[in-house]
Amino acid sequence: MNSPGDSIDDIISLLNKHYHPNCNQEQQSQQNSRPKAGIGNVMLPQIKQQLNVLSAIPNTYNNNSDKFKRKAASLNRQQQPKSQTKDTNSFLIPMTRYLTFKPYSGSTDIIINDVGYYYKFGSSPIKLVKGLLEENGFKENNDKNWTLYWSSCAIRSEIYTNLFAYQKVCHFPKSYEMTRKDLMHRNISKMQINHGFINFNFIPKTYILPAEMSYFLEEHEKIKNNNPVYICKPHASSQGKGIFITDKIQDILNKQNSNNSYVVSHYIDKPLLINNLKFDLRIYVAITCINPLRIYVYQDGLARFATEAYNPDSVKQNRFVHLTNYSVNKDSPNFVANQDPTLDYLGSKWSLLALREYLKLNKINEQQIFERIEDLIIKTIISVESAIFQACEMNVPFRSNCFSLFGFDVLVDQFLKPWLLEVNFSPSLNIDAPLDLKIKGEMLADLFTLIGIVPLDQRFSQDLSYVRNQSNYDVKKHQQEFEKYILKETEEEFKRSRGWKRLYPSDQSSRYSKYFESDRPLNALLRNYYK
Ligand code: ADP
Repeated sequence: MNSPGDSIDDIISLLNKHYHPNCNQEQQSQQNSRPKAGIGNVMLPQIKQQLNVLSAIPNTYNNNSDKFKRKAASLNRQQQPKSQTKDTNSFLIPMTRYLTFKPYSGSTDIIINDVGYYYKFGSSPIKLVKGLLEENGFKENNDKNWTLYWSSCAIRSEIYTNLFAYQKVCHFPKSYEMTRKDLMHRNISKMQINHGFINFNFIPKTYILPAEMSYFLEEHEKIKNNNPVYICKPHASSQGKGIFITDKIQDILNKQNSNNSYVVSHYIDKPLLINNLKFDLRIYVAITCINPLRIYVYQDGLARFATEAYNPDSVKQNRFVHLTNYSVNKDSPNFVANQDPTLDYLGSKWSLLALREYLKLNKINEQQIFERIEDLIIKTIISVESAIFQACEMNVPFRSNCFSLFGFDVLVDQFLKPWLLEVNFSPSLNIDAPLDLKIKGEMLADLFTLIGIVPLDQRFSQDLSYVRNQSNYDVKKHQQEFEKYILKETEEEFKRSRGWKRLYPSDQSSRYSKYFESDRPLNALLRNYYK
């Protein structure tokens, strides 16, 4: 005879209690009577194992840093939208519970129980992603029924077209419009022309060579008496490779003979300095949905320091003075590796929170700097929203399939103005120091929690499947129901935001409406809701 808890119904009811603790019996019986595509295929012992693994995942992990917790809590409180008081629980659409992730411990000895959650790499494996997923009960599996697809490269279109609603891939199509140096400049320049230079004045003046050579020479002619300095970067490279700084026009003309395309920008020669060193910021930004647009910024990140004292007149080829890339400066004899993540203000790499504390202590208006950074993040993403939206409409079956993690590189000058240097498509998740493990590990765990990965038993639940991008679902006919669903989805996501701060939508959304190529109904819905 079966002991209590052994029958499939007992297990399902246990799962329902686990995922729907506030659900009443009537709702539970409705859920039990829904097609159990995600459950019926799984063997009993696997379900039990799954239950054990999932109940072992705490809702909030034990974050060592009190400072981080205090800061995150206070920033989260500041951003609580007014709508938190609105009654979204009255919606008819059932609440979906999502998986919660804890950060990776750094262990290489992980025993994985196969409970039915799989991930797949589309590029070479990344230790942090692999370790974090495996410690949270995921297993690598290249078969079709993976839940999460992670790749440092662009994703092939056949991967998008065959997705199920519960599957998540880590890039939106066409994100390269923002992450390729030349395209990012082209898109922001277009916004400067269409919406006023003053509103998009956060990238250094830039030319894409050789295409814009004659324009560049014309402009140079006008300012040559001021001895302008330029920084030249190969258009599709990273980690400081191939970069040179020069005030000699001939150096740039010589490059014309090579076949490479170069991005030439005005050099920002008055950076804000700390201990006489130049630094830049790595800001983590996530897009969780393109329609409606939802943007988050992580409240911690990195400040990366040059390793030789800054002097605008120093030899421009000295990369340890002028470039702040970790990949460049780690080879400097002056590089100081941070060995203790609790002392996150020591060495050549600091945490973003430590930097903010430092600025505050030195009476520098860090709040203003970060408000400006948030503004430039929203505007940069809006500049490519239309391209990404259209690519999703054409290639991605469900609204919930894609998310993106970007690394925004920002340089702050002596006037406290942040300049966007570039947006990284696949920000480094290397763990070269304990500080990397702490910051990137927490950020990634919070990201996987934020994006809303559904438990096995909800994979085919109706609330996800009816929002197919090109479906017969008549949004107009079911408008009210659909809008309620979107509001609930947005509020639920907000509740999972942990260290992520939501930038868009917010009570400030209407300030940005004019910059969108099209005013999408779902963006308007949230804009009005949070007003
Ligand atoms: P990469 O993708 O190769 O890292 P970046 O655009 O990030 O190229 O530039 C590398 C480094 O060069 C930055 O971290 C920053 O220190 C410096 N840098 C880039 N652009 C400028 C600029 N316009 N003015 C001053 N410094 C810059």
